[in-house]
Amino acid sequence: MYCEDVPVRDVVEAVGTPVYLYSLAHLRDAFRTLDQAFAGTRHLVCFSVKANSNLAVLRAFVNEGSGFDIVSGGELYRVRKAGADPRKVVFSGVGKTREEMEYALRSGILMFNVESEQELEALNEVAGSIGVVAPVSFRINPDVDPQTHPYISTGMKKSKFGIAIDPAAAAYRHAIALPHIDVVGVDCHIGSQLTSTSPFSDAAARVRAFVETLRRDGANIRYVDLGGGLGIRYDDEQPPDPRDYAKALTDGIGDQDVTLVLEPGRSMVGNAGILVTRVLYLKRGEAKNFVVVDGAMNDLIRPSLYGAFQGLRPVVRREAEPMTADVVGPICESGDFFAQDRQIQTPTPGDLLAVMSAGAYGFTMASNYNTRPRAAEVLVDGNEFAVVRERETLESLVAGEKIPAML
Ligand SMILES: *Cc1c(COP(=O)(O)O)cnc(C)c1O
Repeated sequence: MYCEDVPVRDVVEAVGTPVYLYSLAHLRDAFRTLDQAFAGTRHLVCFSVKANSNLAVLRAFVNEGSGFDIVSGGELYRVRKAGADPRKVVFSGVGKTREEMEYALRSGILMFNVESEQELEALNEVAGSIGVVAPVSFRINPDVDPQTHPYISTGMKKSKFGIAIDPAAAAYRHAIALPHIDVVGVDCHIGSQLTSTSPFSDAAARVRAFVETLRRDGANIRYVDLGGGLGIRYDDEQPPDPRDYAKALTDGIGDQDVTLVLEPGRSMVGNAGILVTRVLYLKRGEAKNFVVVDGAMNDLIRPSLYGAFQGLRPVVRREAEPMTADVVGPICESGDFFAQDRQIQTPTPGDLLAVMSAGAYGFTMASNYNTRPRAAEVLVDGNEFAVVRERETLESLVAGEKIPAML
């Protein structure tokens, strides 16, 4: 298996396993394809940092002219380190702290996507205390079913995210009256890994109707942020082509004179990355076979958390009998698996397996559970590769811990 012109095996020889590998060409291509799909409309693509927040990945998007969608002060710190223009940064999330608000205000970001009236009041106070005005959109909840996994479905009535359309009208009136708030837009994000365009069209149409109402009320709406959520192919999904996605959104918004903001995460990076892991042992049981590998749920949690499918491929092809097995990691949890009852080629200990489509919500969701150092990350460009995050060391894992004098 190659990543661009680099044999994956060469990376493993240099860096070890488990290791994340990203293709720069793929990142660029995904960005350009989406950006061009919206070429006919005034728009700003804000890469959703939580999908993959490695500084090198962020810099690659900075170089493409991308903006960023952040959900914490930590992510703001990262995008600034990567060289992002703060005027292209939107700040989402249901629980921004006052410290985070102040940091973002001092950085001069494009807008805050506010999710509650209390958050609005806090933001007004923080902005007032440092003598600035906060640019604000409300995240409205259009109540459309994105038909995706419940954990990544965010725009329905029962969701903790956003404000339903009716109360949002009152929230806007409140915001317009506040001295340190400038109402600039409307925001919505209905979910992730969407594989059809109709929820996007429905949400855009509801947002459009709401924008018209707000304008009648005198709000100067300049931005419509339609979030992220475009799905990718993990297995046999047929996600919409970016052009069809763009058409669904632009048709939905119609001739409103606004700048469209997009917050794609997964579709920019998901299939730009793999996680390479090494087979440790084969364990044949009466009820099941297990392939034990050196990567685990702490490295890539999507199968454990969402029951998500991740493709698995051998890094070096060779003849082998097929077998059905669970591919599991060393962590002391029965939920620690990459695949269950999967038909694979019978591996031999020492073989390398690539966990496919691991570029989004892979490393960013990694933890140190079981005191496992987080994996290295590598970026490939043509026939070159660079380590963009060193594998963690055992010392780094206990840095900051102290045994107090009372012991
Ligand atoms: C997670 C998230 C995104 C990105 O979603 P993808 O499905 O990865 O495109 C965009 N906006 C907000 C507010 C999010 O929480």
